[in-house]
Formats: sequence, structure tokens, C-alpha cells
Amino acid sequence: MNEQLKDDLQKIDRLLETVRLQGLDFLNQLPERPTSSEHKGEITETLNKTGIGGLEALKLFNKKFEKAIIGSTGPRYWGFVTGGSTPASIMGDWLTSIYDQNTQATKGQGDISAIIEIETIKLILDLFNLPNDFIGGFVTGATMSNFTCLAVARQWIGKQAGKDFAKEGITQKINILSAVPHSSAIKCLSMLGIGSNNIIKVNVENGNRESIDIEDLKVKIKKLNGTPFLLITSAGTVNTVDFDDFKAISKLRGEFNFWWHIDGAFGAFAACSPTHKHVLEGWENADSITIDCHKWLNVPYENAVFLVKEKHKILQTEIFQNSNAPYLGNPLDNFNYLNFLPENSRRLRALPVWFSLVAYGKKGYEHIVENSIEMAKTLGEFIEANNHFELLAPVRLNNVCFTLSGQERQSEVSDFLTKLNSTAKVFMTPTVYNGKTGIRASFVNWRTTKQDIELVINEMIKIASH
Ligand SMILES: *Cc1c(COP(=O)(O)O)cnc(C)c1O
Repeated sequence: MNEQLKDDLQKIDRLLETVRLQGLDFLNQLPERPTSSEHKGEITETLNKTGIGGLEALKLFNKKFEKAIIGSTGPRYWGFVTGGSTPASIMGDWLTSIYDQNTQATKGQGDISAIIEIETIKLILDLFNLPNDFIGGFVTGATMSNFTCLAVARQWIGKQAGKDFAKEGITQKINILSAVPHSSAIKCLSMLGIGSNNIIKVNVENGNRESIDIEDLKVKIKKLNGTPFLLITSAGTVNTVDFDDFKAISKLRGEFNFWWHIDGAFGAFAACSPTHKHVLEGWENADSITIDCHKWLNVPYENAVFLVKEKHKILQTEIFQNSNAPYLGNPLDNFNYLNFLPENSRRLRALPVWFSLVAYGKKGYEHIVENSIEMAKTLGEFIEANNHFELLAPVRLNNVCFTLSGQERQSEVSDFLTKLNSTAKVFMTPTVYNGKTGIRASFVNWRTTKQDIELVINEMIKIASH
């Protein structure tokens, strides 16, 4: 064994204890951690010969990079849709690294990790009150979840014409209907060779909405003359958190032949809120659903699940099975995750989720979701009441989409946001909505409190009145 490795192995308790203390320091001061950093960082291009050991590596890391690590997991990072990490999820995440399992088969002489993953999927279905006829698995993020779901959709489209796209390649145009697909779904169409230009845009409903106009959807479906198609719907658009009408779409299932995908990366968590879960009614009828765990579930990156109806299991294995041989028998009998998703080798991503779900339960997640909704409402009410700002859309769930008041201040919005983010006390994202330059604040972090909102409101007023 190499000297440095031997030495580190002997000192492993000291190494881990040092990291634990540094981690605690970070977490205990998280609300004060800057939410952005001006550090450019200096890139070293040569690797030293003998190595310096773990403790010295930590010192070097601290000297070079630590100060520029931002508080994106903290209470005032409202950019993109960025979750934090619950205490129990960090426990699970640490153990995932330490156990270092390769999560694949549920049977045979393997480990228990695939069983843990399956149990975690069941717990997620229970949390969302979804039926048990979905097969689910963990991937790195909602992008890869969309990818997995849409890959099965692509195979389904081929099957409708008696073709096997997985083997033959795509030999016909695939029609996709959608109103406001997330950018990552468009990226997936491009990665899957379906072609992002093949989206047929469906109108949105009247009245500052981002949801599908069902009448226009029917018109566009009829134009396809019975050709099977792919419908990509949203459970929560990123700008205004609008939901497509899943009850109405469920009713179309009997009439038309299509694959129905729901991107519920964060909006799926409306299911945890007694006052908001109705927006998801009918979603259990979808063929596939995308849910992110590193957003509103508050587990560390990278973590998301896909859910695909079990009845599509043969299609799913036709895409992902790790050998070209046809699947003999029922793929669920000798279940192996590597036949159901893109990766072969996989870490036990389910464990942080399992820990967090078990530790906080349905009530815990109801509170996290309700709190985020409350925070968004509070900021939204301030914006509505204050002369400097205006809402670009109603606050429907957990996002606030706003801008500076008046057309004449449109040119100042970007500068305002730069100044606000430069305070490093809060971070928000630029956006464009309805042709206007806007700003988006998204609430999914379990730590955010009313005091955080007040602190940010003060900064906003200071900058806007200059
Ligand atoms: C965040 C998000 C995605 C992409 O998720 P990643 O986890 O970043 O890959 C997809 N769809 C929606 C609606 C999202 O909010």
C-alpha cells in the first residue's frame, strides 16, 4: 500500500472528524454564508508527485476554494429551484458514500441496496398518494428523469407502428404536443433523436396562464389524423407554477392514442399540501411522471426519480436492457435496475431520500411544502403592495415572478437584480415572461423563515429606491 494511503487509513477517524467539524461549522453559519461569490479561483494544472495526504489536501482546499463556496443550500437562495438538505438526508448521503454500493439487482447474491431503492419508491408513491402501478427508480436529476420517461415514450410510438426504434433507430417523424415544456424536456427530445423542432405548440389558456388550452389541444390532436403522439404536460411551470388540467387530459385518453408524460419536477409536491393537492387531480392516469428530489424533497444533489407505468415494463427494458438479447419472461421476476434506466453502475441515491422520508414523515413534508407556499405568498403580497414592484403572474404555489413597476423601468431590471444578488444575502434568477424582463424567486428550502423574507424585502426596497 502506498505510504500516503496507509497513513490516511491509520488516521481515518481524524480525517472524518475534521470534515465533520468543518461541515458543522458550515451548517451552523449557513444563514450568513454569502449566496454568491466574486472569487475567480486559481486553477493549478500540475499534479504533485507524492501526494500530500487527506488533512493537507483539506488545508489546501480551504485555502484555495472554501471561502468561495456559497450558501446555495441555505434559506435565502431563491434562484432556479434550489432545495436544501434536511439533517436526516445528510446522514443518508454520508452513508451512501461510505457504503459505496452499486445498486442493481433485487435478487441473487447481491446486496440489499436495490430493495432499499424499491422501498423508497413505494414511500414516495405513498407520500404523493399515487397508485402502486408505477415502476420507479433514481437518476441524477429531473433532466435524466425526463430522458428516461421520454425514451420509453419513443419506444411506445414505434410500437404503435409495429417498429422497434431501440433496434432500428427512429424511422418516422414523432409528433409531440406541449404548451410550456421545461427547457430540459426540449433538451431530452434533442438527445433522444426525436428532434426538438417536432414539438407542436399548443396554446395556453386565456388569462395570464401557462397551462394547456384543452380546446386547442383537441384541435391540434385532430389535425394528426389518428397518428399516435406524445403529450408533454407540466405539473408546475417554472415561471408561474401553472398546472395543466389533468382531469381534462385524463378524459382524452379514451378518445385518442397518446403517451402522456407529466414533468412534475417540483410541482408534484403540491400533493403534500391539503389546500393545493387538487391541482394534481387525474395525474395518476399519466404514463410517466418526473419528480426531482434535490428540489422540494430537500435532499442533496444529485437526486430525482422517474415513474413509468408498470404496464410499459417490456418497452422500458427494450430501451435500457444491458444486452441485445430479447428479454425472456417477465423483467420484474429478475429485476435489475440497469435494465430500466440509463446508468449501469449506480450509487445508492435512494438512501438520503429514505432517511429524510422516514425521519420526517408525511407531516414533515406537509409542513415543508406549506411553509414554502406561505413564504411565496408573503413575498408576493409585499410586491403587490409596493410601488417599486409588480407581479408578472399571480403567486400560485411557491414561485414569485415579478419585475420593477412600469414599462419605463424595464431597462433597469437586470441592473436591479445584479445589485440585489451582489448583496450576497439573497439570490434570484432572471427570466422573461410575457415579453417582459422579470425576476423569479422560488421557495423550496425547508429552512426559509419570515425573517428571511423581511431581510430580503429591506434589501429590495433599498436598491429599488436609489
Ligand atoms: C428543475 C426542473 C427540471 C430539470 O431538473 P434537473 O434536476 O435540473 O435536471 C425539469 N423540469 C422542471 C419543471 C424543473 O423545475
